[in-house]
Amino acid sequence: MKNFDIETRCVQGGYTPGNGEPRQIPIIQSTTFKYDTGEDMGKLFDLEASGYFYSRLQNPTCDTVAAKICEMEGGSAAMLTSSGQAANFYAVFNLANCGDHVVASSAIYGGTFNLFSVTMKKMGIDFTFVKPNATADELRAAFRPNTKALFGETIANPALNVLDIETFATVAHEMGVPLIIDNTFATPVHCRPIEWGADIVTHSTTKYMDGHGGCVGGAIVDAGKFDWMAHAERFPGLCTPDDSYHGVTYAERFGKEGAFITKATAQIMRDLGSVCAPMTAYMLNLGLESLHVRMQRHYENGLAVAEYLAKHEKIAWVKFPSLPDDEDYALAKKYMPNGTCGVVSFGVKGGREAAEKFMTGLRLAAIETHVADARSCCLHPASTTHRQMSDAELLAAGVSPDLVRFSCGIESARDLIADIEQALANV
Ligand SMILES: *Cc1c(COP(=O)(O)O)cnc(C)c1O
Repeated sequence: MKNFDIETRCVQGGYTPGNGEPRQIPIIQSTTFKYDTGEDMGKLFDLEASGYFYSRLQNPTCDTVAAKICEMEGGSAAMLTSSGQAANFYAVFNLANCGDHVVASSAIYGGTFNLFSVTMKKMGIDFTFVKPNATADELRAAFRPNTKALFGETIANPALNVLDIETFATVAHEMGVPLIIDNTFATPVHCRPIEWGADIVTHSTTKYMDGHGGCVGGAIVDAGKFDWMAHAERFPGLCTPDDSYHGVTYAERFGKEGAFITKATAQIMRDLGSVCAPMTAYMLNLGLESLHVRMQRHYENGLAVAEYLAKHEKIAWVKFPSLPDDEDYALAKKYMPNGTCGVVSFGVKGGREAAEKFMTGLRLAAIETHVADARSCCLHPASTTHRQMSDAELLAAGVSPDLVRFSCGIESARDLIADIEQALANV
């Protein structure tokens, strides 16, 4: 599938049925798999043969959908997880242990920021946060001898900054660590970070990939390019024997292409168990089949709404990376020439009260703690997710009191703009 266009990979990647087999991917709703002898199964436990034995580790339906996402991103191996949070946690924890350090962009999803700065910190892993537009020198300065990875988001949720992936990849490789990119907002339809040097790509499939507000899920894709053995001292988990798997050394046995995902599955998923259900994987696949069609419309609607708002007298500011006067326009054009996403952030003149009044007046876009859905939705962080904060605290957290995050769905742009117009008229 790798030689086909992204549109074809969305529709047909991951699964080619044989003669007389189901056209749609089968849902293998089974926790376990049967073997004739104990010896047959023992080989699976020792990772000496490949096959299924328990769905906490691997399930054929989930693997089929992971294989599609792998092909869409141009990777060598992939796995599904129960959520985007689990995907980012596993991707980082597969490399960094207690006493280690990770450098991350500060413009990342709030849940990821909490995971890194609170929960993983409690586990003894330290994070240094850098600006998403940090120069190579600023990035280098954030590294320590125990740094194990560099992390960022293609398009940050909700700040909408575009990451300079190539600069981040160059510095990561110079410092001997992999670059992990959360590609949730761009999706592989609009950006494939591996083509720009990223080593690991993560997703909250809950967003555009599912696209219908149906299933929480996540994915991890390995580019298969990072040479773990060349940095064996930095990555003992991949380059020394795993006693919990009869002494297998992942980087030796599975090579650059397979080591990362095999370890994340056989060790981290085995022990922590944030597994994707087969039915969820099936529904995610339905979303993936139309991702390329939907992303184009999400983006077109986002651009139309952003252009409309930028000219509106009641709007204080608009952030959308595909607007020509946006600070990230050049990066957006470089990394996402066919478009970015459908999320637009903006400020309503009159601050907190005006923003609340505007949102209450909307008829099509519902107020939700969600983005990247076929149905338009919006959120005013100052009166919902961040409502306990004062205006001063909000500004310190990078959320202005007037900020509205508006996620354009795939409805008609004319209807969305008319809805925004009538809601603004009452502010
Ligand atoms: C939503 C989101 C996550 C977390 O994903 P869940 O599926 O909600 O756990 C991680 N990264 C980004 C960029 C997100 O938007």
